[in-house]
Amino acid sequence: MRKIKIWTESEIEFLKANYQTLSFEEIAKSLNRTVKSVTGKCHLLGLRKRNKQPRYTEEEIKILISNQGMTINEVSKLLNNRSISSIDYKIKELGLNYNIRTKQSIEGNIVKCSKCQNNKEFNSDNFYVDKNLLICKKCLVKIVFINKLKRKGILLDFNKLLDTYTPEEWVEFILKGNIKKYPQSYITKEILIRMLRYVVNIKLNRTVREEIIKTTRNEIKKYALNSHISNHFNGWYEAISTTFSELEIKPFELFETPKGYWLNKSHADEYMIWLVGYLINNNNIQNIEKELPQYLSHTYLRDIKQNKAIDCLHLYKHYKSMYEWMSTLYPNLNFNQKDFSTYVSNDGKTELDSLEEKYIYDFILENFPNITLIATGRKRKNNTYFNDKYNESYSPDFKIIDENKKVRCIIEYFGFYNLKNEHHVFKDYIEKADRKTDYFNNLEDIYFIDLYPIDLNNNFEGVRNKLMPFLLSS
Ligand SMILES: [Zn+2]
Repeated sequence: MRKIKIWTESEIEFLKANYQTLSFEEIAKSLNRTVKSVTGKCHLLGLRKRNKQPRYTEEEIKILISNQGMTINEVSKLLNNRSISSIDYKIKELGLNYNIRTKQSIEGNIVKCSKCQNNKEFNSDNFYVDKNLLICKKCLVKIVFINKLKRKGILLDFNKLLDTYTPEEWVEFILKGNIKKYPQSYITKEILIRMLRYVVNIKLNRTVREEIIKTTRNEIKKYALNSHISNHFNGWYEAISTTFSELEIKPFELFETPKGYWLNKSHADEYMIWLVGYLINNNNIQNIEKELPQYLSHTYLRDIKQNKAIDCLHLYKHYKSMYEWMSTLYPNLNFNQKDFSTYVSNDGKTELDSLEEKYIYDFILENFPNITLIATGRKRKNNTYFNDKYNESYSPDFKIIDENKKVRCIIEYFGFYNLKNEHHVFKDYIEKADRKTDYFNNLEDIYFIDLYPIDLNNNFEGVRNKLMPFLLSS
């Protein structure tokens, strides 16, 4: 069955206001209706287009404006091909006066604005005196503005102007492409908050806390709000946490934490206290001292996407270990270091620093059984190399030794090597990694292999490919 879209009051109003000036196609587009529906409605309402006359040119309008005081008959002589009725219509539309007044007669007088009906002195503060226009400057500015938006399919009420529409409706105008940015000075902090709520709740369909906190600045790009967020808020966190103040969002819950956030140890601590509460509630932990440590393992934290805890230890180095962190935060609890998971190789003989290092270690041991691989891991002190040039010492993750216990190869895993991350902690890490690589590459008689997360892909393809040249050369 064909759906009949009932005409709303505002659509009819729009039609009546525009049928003379816009084409049926333009009206249909503005109202999201078919041309047939528009022409049919015009017929029903008895709206008939005047004889098709070309639009008035700027030149013609200038003539109309500068010859007020003449009769219409007189001015029609200056405008070829214009009918009296067309000129009559146009001068009314422009608010021009062709009967009694002339420049001389009205200057200094009190004049009623033909638009707002206010009485004002006819001077250049209130009117465009030289053009002899009887619409006050204030009204004219509004009319120009209204016409500008009318061309974009946005019909403003003269008395409400931008308030004709709700903030939500303005967001829709952006989405539909009527406008590319919001009208200047429209967006206050309050309006911005309403728009953000609308975008997140309705447009992104995120209504529950866990969903809302995932929202990133990038995702709301197409709603043209980002520059306004910069104007009214100090960063994305402030914007989202103010908009959804009832949720009491913490910075660390966001997908994008504020810049430099994790460098601050107290932020890391605040987060950890939150995380501990989260773990206790979610896992129904009864004996905190015994049970909690196992949930604070790298594997589990990665699984529940709480990698920040791991970063705080390995990247930002706020604490040496999870045990130290927990003992500092909860001095009244008696944690046992043994309960915090360490990574033990599959053969049960070696402790490793991280899960990835365990994977690499196990892979090499299983696939290259002739190699004597030593994970330096927790025995850092006896395995340091000193770089004089930069005055820093390194302890590589793995060494391969020969039958005389001589070091033949050094393997380093750069787990946080991420060129895309602009954060200076990552930059520092990368710079140090590069110095380290340079140093090891220049050690005589030692083959150096640098590994990155990508080398673990495809069943350790990269690890295999980087090890082969060493094996062939030895
Ligand atoms: Zn006025």
